[in-house]
Amino acid sequence: MKKEVDRLAAYRTLSDRDLIELLSCSDADTVSYLHRRAREVAFLHFGNKVYLRGLIEISNFCRNNCFYCGIRKDNSEITRYRLSHNEVLMCCREGYALGLRTFVLQGGEDPEQTASWVEAIVRDIHAEFPDCAITLSLGEKSYRSYLRLRNAGADRYLLRHETFDSGHYSYLHPPSMCIARRIECLRNLKKLGFQTGTGVMVGSPGQTLEHLVQDIRFIEELQPEMIGLGPFIPHHATPFAGETAGTIDRTLRLIAICRLMLPKALIPATTALASLPGKGRVGGILAGANVVMPNLSPPSLRKDYSLYDNKVAFGSESAQGIRDLAAELQDIGYEISMARGDHAGYEGWK
Ligand code: SAM
Repeated sequence: MKKEVDRLAAYRTLSDRDLIELLSCSDADTVSYLHRRAREVAFLHFGNKVYLRGLIEISNFCRNNCFYCGIRKDNSEITRYRLSHNEVLMCCREGYALGLRTFVLQGGEDPEQTASWVEAIVRDIHAEFPDCAITLSLGEKSYRSYLRLRNAGADRYLLRHETFDSGHYSYLHPPSMCIARRIECLRNLKKLGFQTGTGVMVGSPGQTLEHLVQDIRFIEELQPEMIGLGPFIPHHATPFAGETAGTIDRTLRLIAICRLMLPKALIPATTALASLPGKGRVGGILAGANVVMPNLSPPSLRKDYSLYDNKVAFGSESAQGIRDLAAELQDIGYEISMARGDHAGYEGWK
C-alpha cells in the first residue's frame, strides 16, 4: 500500500476504504513506510525538535461519569484533591526554572474550580510568565466562560471529541453528555482564536475502524492545531475495567495518518502511549509526533490523577526527569526544544 501512503502525503487525504486498509493491514513494510513518510513531514516543519509542555493536573474532582475514566464522579476508590491558586503558581515556578515555556492546566470538570477561579489563575500565570503559553484542558464550558479564559491570557485548549459517532459516544458516556455539545465547544474554541486540540482514545470499547474514519474526517474538517491520540487503557474501578486496552500499533498508525493530513499540527506522544509496555513514546516521535508533556504536578498527588491503571508520571515522564527524556530522544536523533512552540498559524493573544 505504499502508493496509498504517497497519495496521502501528496494530497493530505485518502478515501475511506484506503484509510481502513491502512489502519488494519498486516504488512510491516507498509506500516514502517507510513511512519517514515510521517516522520519526514514532521522533520520538514519542526526539524529534529520535540516541544515540551509542563502538565499540571489541577484537580481530580469531576462532575462527569465517563465510563472509561478513573476520575469519574462515581469512583469512590480514589482520594480526591484540588490544587490551590498558589499551588498551581508554585508548579509553574518550578517548571519555569526547569526551562519549560508552556504550562498545561488539566483537570476533571470540578464545579469548585469555576470560570472565575480559572480566569484568576490564568491572569496571574500570564502576568508572571509573559513569555509562556498557557494551555487549558478543563472540559466543556459555555462560550462566555471560554471567552473569559481567552481574554485572561489562555492560548490553547485541549478537548478531545473522543468519538464522532453519536451511538459510540453514548456507549462511552452517560446520557448527560452528548457529542453535539462537545463539537459545539470545539467550534467555539476555534472561533475564539484558541489553538484548539481534539482527538480520540484509540481502541476504546466498541470502537470500529469505521468510527476511526469518521474521527479522521472530523479532524480533517475542523483543522485543529493540536491532535491528542492515546490508547484506551482500562481502569480497574470503572465500568470498562474488564475491557481490552488499545494498541500502540494502531495509535502510531493514527498519529502518522494525522501528521500526513495536517503537516503543521502539534501532536504529542501521549502519556497513555508511554504507559503501555513497549516503546510507545519513542515510537510516537518516530511516527510523526512532535510534543511531549512531562508531568509537573506535585509528586505526592500524581498517583491520585489515575485516569487509567499504571499511568506513568515519574522518571522521564516527569518535569524533574527532563534530562532522562532528552537522553531518550537523543538516542533516536531528536532534541528537546524549550520554545513555546505555538502552531504556525497562531495569531497570538490580543
Ligand atoms: N476533563 C477534561 C476533558 O474531559 O477533556 C480533561 C481531563 S480528561 C481526564 C483527559 C483525557 O483523558 C480525556 O480526553 C480522555 O481521552 C483521557 N482518558 C480518560 N480515561 C482514559 C483511559 N481509561 N484511557 C486512556 N485515556 C483516558
